[in-house]
Amino acid sequence: AKQIVLAARPKGLPDASTFRFENVEVKSPAEGEVRIKGLYYSVDPYMRGRMSDAKSYAAPFEVDQPIVGGIVAEVLESKAPGIAVGDLVTGRVPWATEVTVPATELSRIDPSIAPPSHFLGILGMPGLTAYFGLMDIGKPKAGETVLVSGAAGAVGTVVGQLAKQAGCRVVGIAGSDEKTELLKHEFGFDEAINYKTTPDITAAIAAACPDGVDVYFDNVGGEISDAAIMNLNFHSRIALCGQIAHYNATEVPMGPRLFPRLLTRKVLLKGFIVSDYIDRVQEGFAALAKGVKEGKLKYRETVVEGFDKLPEAFLSLFSGENKGKMIVKA
Ligand code: NDP
Repeated sequence: AKQIVLAARPKGLPDASTFRFENVEVKSPAEGEVRIKGLYYSVDPYMRGRMSDAKSYAAPFEVDQPIVGGIVAEVLESKAPGIAVGDLVTGRVPWATEVTVPATELSRIDPSIAPPSHFLGILGMPGLTAYFGLMDIGKPKAGETVLVSGAAGAVGTVVGQLAKQAGCRVVGIAGSDEKTELLKHEFGFDEAINYKTTPDITAAIAAACPDGVDVYFDNVGGEISDAAIMNLNFHSRIALCGQIAHYNATEVPMGPRLFPRLLTRKVLLKGFIVSDYIDRVQEGFAALAKGVKEGKLKYRETVVEGFDKLPEAFLSLFSGENKGKMIVKA
């Protein structure tokens, strides 16, 4: 089988030299293990964090060891009770075309609910992130305004739709006109702002949010968040989900100090990691699966074909090539 290891820790933006392909023997499963073949692989922004050795919530990847990521796979051989050959499973496993892992790393998926790859997106980690961040921290109320950055991605598209369902005015920020059109016409956002072509984002948010912003769901950070903060209402909430604008930074940017604004407007700012909600996964999954089944939650993927394209697909998250969830199909 082929696997992909971390060849070197990237400084700044990773590139092809961050990754190395290797051929490996796949061992037969021991008791409690299964051998799986990858069908769909997830590339996610948080994986950039694991490539660095800075202390974080997830342990760093080791140099010369496989990158580990989300997968949907087919079981080829099983020595684990409850998992049969042909089952479809999801989990976080080494990036390899085939691999043998403990069954405890995997959970079975039910392809009658949705196409298998959805379990890496709206019915997986990104969907749950959107659900818990918005519902538990944003706590949107009907009539309020919700602003979402990174709006056209895996998390953002779900946040926007859930906020619409909660009866809010929803405004998205994304990096191309194609994406802003998609937000308005496919995902039901009321307004969308292209941050790459808008000279004054603060003014654009003010225009799109005439009653101010009550919930800011932040996927990106940086200047977009500065502009969002300048538009926050009294008692507004920030669900601090991601800071992709900073993931490749080589030093901490000390920007304008906007905290006085957060203070005087009595803003709640809460960072969160989806795993904080591990005890409530069933609730989140059920809500998202119901929305998908009933056609009330739309979902989009950008699918790149070929295991060999995994590094490229990962890197393209930082140039915004994806609309919706970025997936690699084996
Ligand atoms: P996306 O599908 O949104 O893909 C990343 C997107 O980020 C790109 O498409 C691009 O869109 C945008 N982007 C890239 N660089 C920049 C930049 N410098 N400034 C502004 N936007 C940029 O990824 P996900 O939906 O999977 O993740 C979204 C965010 O949520 C990430 O920050 C991720 O780390 C975070 N996250 C956090 C979790 C948690 O538990 N807290 C769990 C999952 C995700 P564009 O064209 O608009 O620039």
